[in-house]
Amino acid sequence: MEQHLQHPVFKSLTDIADLHRIEVYVIGGYVRDIFLNRPSKDIDIVVLGNGIEFAELAGKQLKSKVAVFKNFGTAMLKFQDLEIEFVGARKESYRSDSRKPIVENGTIEDDQLRRDFTINALAISLNKKNYGQLVDPFNGLNDLSNKLIRTPLDPELTFSDDPLRMMRAIRFATQLDFTIDSTALNAIKKQKERICIVSKERITDELNKVILSKVPSIGFKYLFDTGLLQLIFPQMANLYGVDIINGKGHKDNFYHTLQVLDNICETTTDLWLRWAAILHDIAKPATKRFEEGHGWTFHGHEDKGARMVPKIFAQLKLPLNEKMKFVQKLVQLHLRPIVLAQEVVTDSAVRRLLFDAGEDIEQLMLLCNADVTTKNEYKVKKYRNNFELVKQKLKDVEERDKIRNWQPPISGNDIMEIFGLSAGREVGLIKNAIREAILEGEITNTYNNALAFMLEKAKEFGLKPIKR
Ligand code: ATP
Repeated sequence: MEQHLQHPVFKSLTDIADLHRIEVYVIGGYVRDIFLNRPSKDIDIVVLGNGIEFAELAGKQLKSKVAVFKNFGTAMLKFQDLEIEFVGARKESYRSDSRKPIVENGTIEDDQLRRDFTINALAISLNKKNYGQLVDPFNGLNDLSNKLIRTPLDPELTFSDDPLRMMRAIRFATQLDFTIDSTALNAIKKQKERICIVSKERITDELNKVILSKVPSIGFKYLFDTGLLQLIFPQMANLYGVDIINGKGHKDNFYHTLQVLDNICETTTDLWLRWAAILHDIAKPATKRFEEGHGWTFHGHEDKGARMVPKIFAQLKLPLNEKMKFVQKLVQLHLRPIVLAQEVVTDSAVRRLLFDAGEDIEQLMLLCNADVTTKNEYKVKKYRNNFELVKQKLKDVEERDKIRNWQPPISGNDIMEIFGLSAGREVGLIKNAIREAILEGEITNTYNNALAFMLEKAKEFGLKPIKR
């Protein structure tokens, strides 16, 4: 193991530990990530003794400021690009109404026992006498090579004590492409209701880590199969299932959504575009109808879906800011490029799409591409080709008409000055008329054309310019 502890900081920690005769270990994610070849900058240090005091000694030696979290009994320092956290080895026990354990001093094995998963309980000694020795009482190394998430203690107790661990199990399985061991999985199914004692923010943190993984569907399938999704995000769980009437079914919107999400992850790492993929069909259950002679329809699911976005963001404690607005806009517009791709593409339809999508047009096109999940190769080819045509057309129209991030060529102030109006309905009507004329292609997007059009249009409203 020694070759993995090359960073000079470990040598300093060893010196302090030996000088003060304290047993010290590096533990948890950093050790796990050595074996997984995932370089990590977060180092957790366990000290058999007082973690805060040891951190202060380390801070002195490394000339780094130490941040002390007295309530947690931990301390942290930054050294070069590393974040090092110190804690005294502890034994934990829990009460049923809180995630906060009762803590007492313990041995290294006690400390490993309080860790969530065997792969997160690996420790490496930093003392000279056994420097680099791996301490692995629960066969974490085996689980790493078998790609298995397993708990050191009885999983039901582990998950009941701190139900956030259920989310963490699913998050690690997704990030690492591991399997959750069957006993642990059954324990999550049994203990799922305990998730209610975990704060929404913590749950959503984990959910976002699932979503930012390479293949997020792994996590969502676990969330659904264990019943957790139904509790933390019921609108998404509602997408599951197929209704059949007169022998006609529709696609399962849960698995379709997961496919769209996995697809979009191949083209973007942006969390909010990934959220747009999750929510694009969220209103399908609420808008589902069976129409005789026609089959299943989901009319208006894009409008209703967009209206659902703020509520879902609030419920999940996601930010209610421009990120939410972006997701809402994409949900609202997600059918537009598909409709364009199915029809003869007129310039005015393309201008309208550019106008509505603004600077998010590329993201919208990525979402629409990801939304093509049909297994029919012929259809896939057709849609993708049509999307290319739409994209080309978007480019041509944008180059010519500059509609994206469109600013009215004549402002409201201009209109008020020219006609001697004060702010009011008429100004809005004129502005709309100009915008419509540009989007319809009746006039080009220039000041002079807009002015001529406006003066003509104003006559219909009985307005005369007081100034030219
Ligand atoms: P990552 O940095 O990818 O999130 P990590 O394993 O370093 O992975 P942290 O949340 O930083 O995750 O936790 C550090 C270590 O603390 C874990 O490896 C684990 O040993 C322990 N740990 C963290 N949270 C819990 C928990 N809820 N229950 C038990 N042990 C935990």
